[in-house]
Amino acid sequence: MSEPRSPEPVIAGLRSRCPRCGQGKLFQAYLKLAPRCAVCGADFSHADSGDGPAVFVMFVVGAVVVPLAFILQFGLELPSWATITISFIATLALSLALLPPVKGALFALQWKHKAGEARLTEADPEIDREERR
Ligand SMILES: [Zn+2]
Repeated sequence: MSEPRSPEPVIAGLRSRCPRCGQGKLFQAYLKLAPRCAVCGADFSHADSGDGPAVFVMFVVGAVVVPLAFILQFGLELPSWATITISFIATLALSLALLPPVKGALFALQWKHKAGEARLTEADPEIDREERR
């Protein structure tokens, strides 16, 4: 009997599921990662997507909301207060809706590829050279 296949990390992340088993929840709160998977026990502590999800979400939301504002203001000739209000609500709603799946996808890719912060380790030749001096 073969072991179950791991899910695609991007798909598992977009579904906010564990990148190893695809079953356990990735988040314990809105954007707070669980310390480990409740189903398979995968440790989520070594990966941190940082500000990456916010950057991707800003690009996507900006690409949608700015043309929307132009259409509302100059195409439909809505009053400025209506354009600003609709654009603000669209920005807020899209940002809040997109952050969890984008964070999940970036975290899952990071987890799968064991990416982390750059660190100097004892195996680093630069440290060995410094210690010999
Ligand atoms: Zn799992």
